[in-house]
Amino acid sequence: MRRQEWPQQDDSNERESVNIPVQNDVVVLGGGLAGHCAALAAAEHGASVLLLEKTPNYGGSSVQAAGSFAFARTDAQREMGIEDSEEKLAEDLVSASGNRADPVLVGRYVELQADTYEWLKRQGVEFHKIALSSNMSVPRTHPTNPRQLLDALHAKVMNNARITYVPSVAASRLLRTGHGSTVTVNGVLAYAANDAIEVNARGGVVLAAGGFSRNPQLIERFSPQMAKAMPAGGAANVGDGLLMGWSVGADLLDMSFVNGTFGMGLTRYPDLHLYAEDEALLRLAIYKGAIAVNLEGRRFADESMSYKTLGEICLRQPKAIGFQIFDQKIMELSEPAPNSHDLADAYKKGLVRKAASISELAGMLGIDAVELERTVARYNEGVKKGKDDEFGRVALSKSVGKMVALDTAPYYGFPCATAVLATYCGLRVNADMQVLNVYAEPIEGLYAAGELVGGFHGAGYMSGTALGKAAIFGRVAGRVSAERAAR
Ligand SMILES: Cc1cc2nc3c(=O)[nH]c(=O)nc-3n(C[C@H](O)[C@H](O)[C@H](O)COP(=O)(O)OP(=O)(O)OC[C@H]3O[C@@H](n4cnc5c(N)ncnc54)[C@H](O)[C@@H]3O)c2cc1C
Repeated sequence: MRRQEWPQQDDSNERESVNIPVQNDVVVLGGGLAGHCAALAAAEHGASVLLLEKTPNYGGSSVQAAGSFAFARTDAQREMGIEDSEEKLAEDLVSASGNRADPVLVGRYVELQADTYEWLKRQGVEFHKIALSSNMSVPRTHPTNPRQLLDALHAKVMNNARITYVPSVAASRLLRTGHGSTVTVNGVLAYAANDAIEVNARGGVVLAAGGFSRNPQLIERFSPQMAKAMPAGGAANVGDGLLMGWSVGADLLDMSFVNGTFGMGLTRYPDLHLYAEDEALLRLAIYKGAIAVNLEGRRFADESMSYKTLGEICLRQPKAIGFQIFDQKIMELSEPAPNSHDLADAYKKGLVRKAASISELAGMLGIDAVELERTVARYNEGVKKGKDDEFGRVALSKSVGKMVALDTAPYYGFPCATAVLATYCGLRVNADMQVLNVYAEPIEGLYAAGELVGGFHGAGYMSGTALGKAAIFGRVAGRVSAERAAR
């Protein structure tokens, strides 16, 4: 069998000396958030765990994320006087999904979210001040610094004698016995240096290899509407886990709903194709009160909508780019976490431009200045009336927060685009994260967690639920596969 290509692997000496345990209770594929949580949970339940990561560095998309988790009825919300409940969270999840979310998975998320929040804190993860984000009826974004999040969990993995972490090794095939409805997964075929190694997993294999945002062929096949969006996310997220599950008969859900996210900063603008891949600058000034305009200086939507819907609309604008425009009052609301709210940092990094007037800002950004001035004046009139006439905006995000006039110099703006940050769809699972075949029967020994799980987000997405889902479902997959190993 041909070795899977992975161009960044030039550490063959180091890899030759890697000792991969071939007998394990649980094998976890992918060193992102879901994989770390699965490995730790499996070890907590007594399993010996092998955690394989395809690239030299752990973190995947998780470490590039804004860092927001959606949790409800937490101590942090109570301290800020925010009233939330599991019921409201469930309602928002179902509504964000366009009523498509699998109630079993929504129920699992809601049931385990508070416990997972506390568990993450016990692993050393630090949470920052609660914020409001897309598709939430109350502020429930529990922000983290994603680097701190992954480093804290990785330190726990490295200090756990039951877990062996091996970077720069990709799993490429599942080992199985049986066929059709009798398939049982027993391990994986992994490539280390130039050797193919059969690695056994008594309890099961947890697929936590992330989505396929970096695989244009799969995007084109399942969601051709996103072909023009920029690929983003973990560099090796090309759908390996999805393909492995699919190859043994897994059912796939929500595949046509891959959606771009509005707001990815074009750090090399006016070059429209390149941006910093090592540090994704996703910034959402719109939810602090900024407006979004196109190259003609015209707004194109009610900015309080989900950034996924805005992403779709932005793809139809000239050159498929937008600009977020705001003033000093909004700049002062900048917060370090989640990093999508960190406007001051984006200014320091050169993404955000500053000018004394709207027309000067328009000139810097290459936007039609006369039209932009008109747009801002019209919007400010709307703010005075409490509703903007053009698109009916009344709030900052969903129905929460009051619009603010853009009237206090200096003014700020930055170019941004729609990017496929994550794919959110994929393998069908049950409440125990067992992967299900097309007849809804569990595939013995195969579990999935994180971005490659389908059926949870449906047609939409509430901010913070991809990290939430990775942690919550990762823990479930780890526990259940460890229990199977113990039987
Ligand atoms: C810019 C950006 C901002 C985001 N912000 C947020 C946010 O604030 N809140 C939120 O909820 N979500 C956010 N998301 C989405 C969220 O980050 C992801 O959905 C989530 O982190 C996925 O976690 P994961 O563990 O499933 O995958 P990942 O973190 O991507 O980890 C998968 C890992 O598997 C490895 N891998 C791939 N193939 C193999 C293989 N064959 N063998 C072994 N390893 C393999 C990859 O290298 C990677 O390290 C954001 C995404 C991006 C890109």
